[in-house]
Amino acid sequence: MNKQSKSTRPVIILGSTGSIGLQALDVAERHGYEVRALAARSNANVLSGQIRSYRVRFAAMTDPEAANELRTLVRDLDVRIYSGTEGMLDMIRDASVSGPVPTVLNAVSGAAGLRPSLCALDSGCPLALANKESLVLAGEIVMAKAKEKNLPVLPVDSEHCALWQCLKAGRRSEVDALILTASGGPFFGLDRDELKNKAARDALAHPTWHMGAQITIDSATLMNKGFEIMEAVWLFGIPEDRIEVLVHRQSIVHSMVRFCDRSVIAQMSVPDMRFCIAHAIEYPKRLDAVIDELDLASVGSLDFAKPDTDSFPALGLARFAYRQGGAMPAVLNAANEIAVDAYLEGRTGFYGITDIVLRTMTRLQKAKDEHSLDGILYYDTEARKAAASYLLR
Ligand code: NDP
Ligand code: MG
Repeated sequence: MNKQSKSTRPVIILGSTGSIGLQALDVAERHGYEVRALAARSNANVLSGQIRSYRVRFAAMTDPEAANELRTLVRDLDVRIYSGTEGMLDMIRDASVSGPVPTVLNAVSGAAGLRPSLCALDSGCPLALANKESLVLAGEIVMAKAKEKNLPVLPVDSEHCALWQCLKAGRRSEVDALILTASGGPFFGLDRDELKNKAARDALAHPTWHMGAQITIDSATLMNKGFEIMEAVWLFGIPEDRIEVLVHRQSIVHSMVRFCDRSVIAQMSVPDMRFCIAHAIEYPKRLDAVIDELDLASVGSLDFAKPDTDSFPALGLARFAYRQGGAMPAVLNAANEIAVDAYLEGRTGFYGITDIVLRTMTRLQKAKDEHSLDGILYYDTEARKAAASYLLR
């Protein structure tokens, strides 16, 4: 990396101890951001180190015991510690008015990210969104809130960061299709027989991205791509049936837009989430040398293939949940979170994940008629209970 530009943007990073959070702190350090506030669930040790390194004034742990531990670890510092889920929301509110308006980077994993996204927008902060679950659960509500507050939702997910850039090549009415690329994960090319006995440790060996456990398993099942279809619908206002998926093993082309004249615009870079993080936070500016230069000659060739929706049923299941509408995507996500946890612990198999998700969706049919935030959160809880009950048998 050569010349690097400095910025003085204040940022609040939620999920700072995770894969995206750590990379965001790396971007913040390289480019001189003010890291105003940090939050995580229970990793008090890592969070305390971050508070020290970045002289952070506000921090939250949603696990109350971990919050107490954190208080002890940083008692010599001038930092305000918040505890619990409500505490994290209070922290966003307080930190957002303590100086120039910060960008909130939401890199919490799972449905737990929804309320912080809404709280960030309510507090008047631009939202850099890694937590795709916010849009899977309540895309309509989150985007309406952003519109009401006249604030941007800035995509951090690499595919959506790519689409956002590609879409600038034409008018929205001229878009024929969005083409989401998928690495295919560690199990690309395997059939049902080979997949059925694959354990979580095999799935955790992702070929191109190093991510948290949940999203890594979701990449192996292709559920992640299903979530990303919904994410794209809400971010860009393109109907679900115009969003295609293409497997691209090298993760160099991050996504594409096909326009009505059949011209296809692609965005490429080395696979490095720090680009997407910086692009979202700095929008509409581009920083110098955020990541390594792409050397296409050494990449050699780029391959593309259709996804195998028979061996990987999660993609179809996610489209089905979206078409059902209402709180059904929240049911899909919650059941998937429970099933993925079970898969990680060896309590269910590869196809156990989609089996539990389908059974939960079937049991909670009425979710499709529920559109309110409270209703969505209600079905999130119900789906967790239902999914857990299938694991007991
Ligand atoms: P990780 O599992 O690595 O990190 C999750 C982070 O969220 C941790 O800081 C964790 O804290 C925190 N967290 C978890 N639950 C809660 C909660 N209830 N309240 C507060 N904080 C919580 O995940 P990733 O960084 O991989 O992913 C984060 C999000 O970004 C996900 O939505 C994912 O889909 C999305 N994303 C990730 C990409 C990647 O490359 N990793 C790419 C694109 C999107 P603690 O450590 O204390 O448990
Ligand atoms: Mg992605």
